[in-house]
Amino acid sequence: MANGVVVLIAVLLLERSAAVGDQADPSHVDGAPPSKIAVVGAGIGGSSTAHFLRQHFGPEVQVDVFEKGEVGGRLATVTVNHHDYESGGSIIHSLNLHMQEFVKVLGLKYRRSVAGKTAVFNGDEMILEETDWYLLDLFRLWWRYGISFIRLQMWVEEIMEKFMRIYKYQAHGYAFSSVEELLDSLGGSGFLNMTRKPLSDSLLEVGVSQRFIDEVIAPIMRVNYGQNVSIPAFVGAVSLAGAQNNLWSVEGGNKLVCSGLIKTANANLHQAQVTSIAPVTSGDTLQYRLSFTSETDSGSDLYDIVVLATPLQESVQSGITFEDFSPPFDQLPGYYHSTVATIVHGYLNTTFFGFPDPRLFPFASVLTTDEPRLFFNSVASICPVNISAGFRRKQPQEAGIYKVFSPHTLDKVQLKSLFRSYYSVQLTEWSAYPRYGSSSSLPSIELQPNLYYLNGIEWAGSAMEMSSVAAKNIALLAYHRWNRQDDKVDQKDLMHKIKTEL
Ligand SMILES: Cc1cc2nc3c(=O)[nH]c(=O)nc-3n(C[C@H](O)[C@H](O)[C@H](O)COP(=O)(O)OP(=O)(O)OC[C@H]3O[C@@H](n4cnc5c(N)ncnc54)[C@H](O)[C@@H]3O)c2cc1C
Repeated sequence: MANGVVVLIAVLLLERSAAVGDQADPSHVDGAPPSKIAVVGAGIGGSSTAHFLRQHFGPEVQVDVFEKGEVGGRLATVTVNHHDYESGGSIIHSLNLHMQEFVKVLGLKYRRSVAGKTAVFNGDEMILEETDWYLLDLFRLWWRYGISFIRLQMWVEEIMEKFMRIYKYQAHGYAFSSVEELLDSLGGSGFLNMTRKPLSDSLLEVGVSQRFIDEVIAPIMRVNYGQNVSIPAFVGAVSLAGAQNNLWSVEGGNKLVCSGLIKTANANLHQAQVTSIAPVTSGDTLQYRLSFTSETDSGSDLYDIVVLATPLQESVQSGITFEDFSPPFDQLPGYYHSTVATIVHGYLNTTFFGFPDPRLFPFASVLTTDEPRLFFNSVASICPVNISAGFRRKQPQEAGIYKVFSPHTLDKVQLKSLFRSYYSVQLTEWSAYPRYGSSSSLPSIELQPNLYYLNGIEWAGSAMEMSSVAAKNIALLAYHRWNRQDDKVDQKDLMHKIKTEL
């Protein structure tokens, strides 16, 4: 999510599955712990799963993590001029408690944020400009949008307050067998409805004006999810929370959390692609055979528990085939939205935004409205993952490092219209987050007994913390299922239960 949104919103917000059902038949009636667990994927989802599995199953179990690409997955950096810059997930909310805990446990540092102003561009002109004067910004917001921004803030806060219950539930060891159960326990049917209802409808209902939705909310959805205000209200709220104040990132790069967690979990990292998974039964015991290939090797191994921590939709090309599953299991419906992150070292063409003199261009980031003529979602001056004490953001008249988010690769003409000249251009084409609306259901967490799927949560909301919440849930669920502790799974009225436990 764009760094610059932080500052603008500081003002705006003041702050398919093979059914498991009753066939679940745990393979360990004798109370013996599992001996081997596999995690497929070493993004924040897979690495935090390894960490939580170690916490719950103890030191004896062998945890193997398979990664076909780079550890970090969608948390990645690119190097420009000897400095590294986030090209994937970049911003973490101050109330993302799992991410905070990881940074603490790993002895990592918070990265200092560097102030910069934000504006919204509609293809012709800037329609909203942040200034140096907080009260002036507030007055302007009130003048243009009435009290929409206060209504928005109240709406987001109420959702966040309910979402925060997950940390209590998880601290008390409760787990959920589906994303639906998890959401229902946090916010009842209201949360579930929010995964189906368009964001714009929900906001209009709470009195946010259409103009505010078009000029403020749409630009935030474009920069955070590359989509429009018809995305479901729940993910919209995740996105709006990620546009608030008090955001942070990890000094040295967010992906350090992933490598750190795999290490502290004492998990074995296999740089290999899992190519197939097949259930293997022997007597009462169910295991899974994972086949994998690496640059130098190929092989297969048996596991008691398997966690798939990578999207299983066709567009993401995990390359995993499901063999001998009954009923058959294949790729999941829906697809992932493509977002291109282009990192440019050059001179921004401020004339494009109506500022012929770059010295008079005061903005660090520009968001855009949902205007078909616009070929990009946002452009922002970005800071390296290591910020030295004397670091200052480059002025628009100087060559700087910019990140452009767009739905397609920028061609030369487009680059030339956004930049007067440039030294280098690096792009990463991401299967970034679900294309909301391309699937009508939330994917299952339990695909088969002892076979879990993490990334279904992304269809409620895609963010580092969502993957971490899903990871903790799967570690707890796997532990309770293995030990037949059904009183810790899908319990109702948890707030009350927890109070009476104290
Ligand atoms: C451009 C962009 C900006 C974003 N901005 C933010 C932000 O600011 N804040 C935020 O919170 N979130 C942000 N997100 C979302 C966030 O990055 C993701 O939700 C999160 O990183 C997903 O992590 P994951 O581990 O669940 O999946 P991934 O990171 O996708 O990890 C899956 C891993 O599995 C590996 N894999 C796949 N198939 C196989 C196989 N067969 N065998 C072995 N390994 C396999 C992949 O190589 C990958 O490393 C952003 C995402 C993008 C793309």
